[in-house]
Order: sequence, then structure tokens, then C-alpha cells
Amino acid sequence: MKAKKISALLLAAAMTACAVPAQGAAADEPKVPKYIFLFIGDGMSYPQVQTTNYYLNAIEDDGDDILTSESKLNMMKFPVAGSAQTYDSTSFCPDSASTATSISTGHKTYSGTINMDEKMETSYETIAEKLKKQLGYKVGILSSVNLNHATPAAFYAHQASRNNYYEIGQELIASNFDYFAGGGLKKTTGSEGDQTDLYELAQEAGYKVIKTKAEAENLTAEDGKAIVIDETLADDDAMSYDMDLEDGEWGLSDYVKKGIEVLDNDTGFFMMVEGGKIDWACHANDAAATITDTVAMDEAVGKAVDFYNEHPDETLILVTGDHETGGLTIGFAGTDYDTFLANISNQKISYAKFDSDYVAAYKENKTDFDTVMADITELFGLQAPTGTTESSNQADSKDVHPEGEEDKGSLVMTDYEYQKLQNAYEETMSRTGEEEEFGQEEYLMYGSYEPLTVTITHILNNKSGINFASYAHTGLPVEVFAMGVGQEQFEGYYDNTDIFNKVAAITGVK
Ligand SMILES: [Zn+2]
Repeated sequence: MKAKKISALLLAAAMTACAVPAQGAAADEPKVPKYIFLFIGDGMSYPQVQTTNYYLNAIEDDGDDILTSESKLNMMKFPVAGSAQTYDSTSFCPDSASTATSISTGHKTYSGTINMDEKMETSYETIAEKLKKQLGYKVGILSSVNLNHATPAAFYAHQASRNNYYEIGQELIASNFDYFAGGGLKKTTGSEGDQTDLYELAQEAGYKVIKTKAEAENLTAEDGKAIVIDETLADDDAMSYDMDLEDGEWGLSDYVKKGIEVLDNDTGFFMMVEGGKIDWACHANDAAATITDTVAMDEAVGKAVDFYNEHPDETLILVTGDHETGGLTIGFAGTDYDTFLANISNQKISYAKFDSDYVAAYKENKTDFDTVMADITELFGLQAPTGTTESSNQADSKDVHPEGEEDKGSLVMTDYEYQKLQNAYEETMSRTGEEEEFGQEEYLMYGSYEPLTVTITHILNNKSGINFASYAHTGLPVEVFAMGVGQEQFEGYYDNTDIFNKVAAITGVK
């Protein structure tokens, strides 16, 4: 490792004069970054970044009266920060297919479309394809959700619909990219289930397909192109929420570290890393999972920063989001000017794991509310109003303290909150799972989520002083953090298509 580093330094010193491939480049012309990292936090806009940072500060609160907030996240320490607007050809509240298309190709298109124009006639070549074809860079595509989901797909596929999972999988294989890692492929045998398995096709095309952590650990560059699927897949065959990982299980940063290992070469590489479950957590209005997955992506950014520190003159790292999800905000009508972000640390499990490991059993066993309430206290910290813990009776209002100073930030529910929780429990227990449409009131309260679970996270969020406005994406701009060769290009307030334009300009690809 050390020898390699020294030889790389010597090589870099010897080659500074000829490192720029552009013809007629002046000696002082900026270099082309040989190593490019693009991190996309799906659904990660300013609220997700800032809530996470405030949360990390809040849980360290030393009781001092004077509030402070250090920048705890790697991405916040980058020297350059810009902003990008995210609208697409359909909406100011865009989706991941079109926004990733903008980032990847510099073109706007309709929501749901991957790298094709609005007429579905022309397909666009992506930055990853250009860097591989024109500069010979190795390419890595990583995601904590399915590898043929919209965001990763936008770097190698060209499809009228993001739902063409099988065709996207075929394009993944045809891309000849070097390293894919993260969540499992969706619809591996097609929508009818009668086509050749995508993993089988990948192997036939020369990919080493890996599905265990042990094999992933042993993967080296000598193994050639590889598709690494996480061993312990969770909801929808995505990787687990970071807060649900068991000791020793790999998170996103482990796959980034391995990616650097297998992609590192003298010509260069491009690595796109999606923190895809930030978006899923925000859709479900689960602030704890949002924060912990934002931290997980930032740890992955940390691996790129480590690499940058070894190759500062040849590396560019970008960290952005594709759009905001959930309309998250810091502040809530019920807490006015206060926040109690440390309350979120009481949540021990993601909404998805609570659904699969608890709620499914409640429905099956017709579990009574008191038993459920004990789990809620254990897993989310929320407590029944005083005096009602052993009874499913309505909260006795005279036992509940008015919201005085001493109760600020308390996790003891008010009558109003407790009633909402009981109603949600009833709604969850009465649903069969066959419901296709919800009334306006049901949708506003629960979205398409399990009423009990989303009500628990709503109450905990609100008791923490934060709130979500939507179960969908919103029109907020996203941050663009930049560090390394060409970083200054990313200052300002621009369009997400300019992220492509800037990377293309810096690297000189056509
Ligand atoms: Zn989304």
C-alpha cells in the first residue's frame, strides 16, 4: 500500500506536464480530474443535510445555554457549495428518473423517463458512458436501493419508463461498466417472470456476480467486472436502512471502499454513489431513518475524502441530491421556536423494519393496543399519557400536565396525540392490505403507509420539532458540494443540467 502510494506520487510528479489530454493545453490550464466521485443523496436537499447536522449536535448537547452547531458532516466541510434547481419537463416537483437524467446527460425530460427526450425518440449518452468511451475511465455505480432503480439506471440505461426494470437490467449488463454494488436487481426474470434471469445473463457477459459479504471482501481488481449484491437485503430487495444494520453487516461506505480498491487504476475512474434510502425514509416521513441514512452516505463520502487526501491534484468529489423528498422542515407549529431533535435518538428501528417485524405480527395475532403501546415505548420512546399506561381507556385529561415549561420536549403523549395513535392502531388493524384507494383524510394522515407506523413517526417527529409536508417529492433546490480539481466551477445557483455541463467541461468529453 505504502509502496503503491509512493510510486503514485513519483508518477504524478513525473507526469504533471503531460497529464492534460486536451490538445494545445497551456501549462497552467487546469488538469482533468482522473478520479471523479459523484454522490447523489436521493431526496437529500438542504433540510435533510441541515436536520442531520443539527441532530448530531443536539445529541452532544452539554447542557450549556448557548446553542452551537459545528459542521459534523464531511460534505459540509467541502470548500465549495452551490445550489441547483431540480424541476423537470413534467413538474416543479420532479422524480428521480428525470432529475438523474439531467445530472447525467444535461437534458430535461419527463418524470419517469431515463435518458430519453420528451418524444421518446432520442436517447442521450451519459457522463459515465462518455468517460468510459472517450477517456477510458473505469466506472462504478453504487446504490443502497436496487441497482436497476431510477437513479443508478440514469448512468447506464435509456428507457421511456423507469419501470422497465428488466430492460434496464439488460442495459446494466451491456454497459460493460466495471463495478456495480448495492441493492438487488428488481424483476430479474421480467415482469411476466418468464425471461432469462438477469444475474445469469450478467455471468454469461463476463460479470462476476457476488451475493455474499465474504465474497465481496475477497473481490479484487483482478476479478474483472463485478456485480456485488448486498447479502442481507431488506424492504424491496434494497439494502437495509443503516439504523437496522446488524453488527458486521456492510453499509454503503464499505461498498465505496471496496469500489475504490477495484476501480483504482492509472487511467482514472468515475464512481456514482446513490444514498437511495434517504428518499424512501422521507417518503415515509421517518426522520430517524432519514438522518441515519444521511449519516451513512456521508460516511461513504468520507471514504472518497480519504482517497482525495492521497490524490488531491487528481480527484474531484461532488455531493448533491436529485430533489427534495417529503417537504421536511426544521420547526413545527406545535413546538413554535423550539426543537428537541435529540428525541429522535429514541427511535431504534426504521418504519420498514417495524412494519415487517412487528406490525405484520400484530395484524396476524390481533395484538391488543396495550401490548403494542409497550413496543412503541421501547422502540420509539413515546409514552402514554400519565396514568393510562396499563389501560386502553381514553387518557384521563386531568392526569396530563398542561404543556408547561417542564414538559417541553417530553415524550409523554398529549391526549390529542394519544387519540391519534389509537385511531391509527384501529385503522391498521382493520385494513386487509387490499385497499387500493384512500379517502382524502386517510391519505393526508397516513399516505400509503401503515397508519400505525406513520403516526408513530409523525408524533415523534413533531415532538422533536420537525415536520414533513408531503409523502412525495417537493420543488426545493439541492445543494452541490464540491472538492478537488475543478471545484470552483460549482459555485453559484444554477440548474441541475449544469452539473453535467460542468463535469463535461472539466473533463473535456464531447
Ligand atoms: Zn422518491
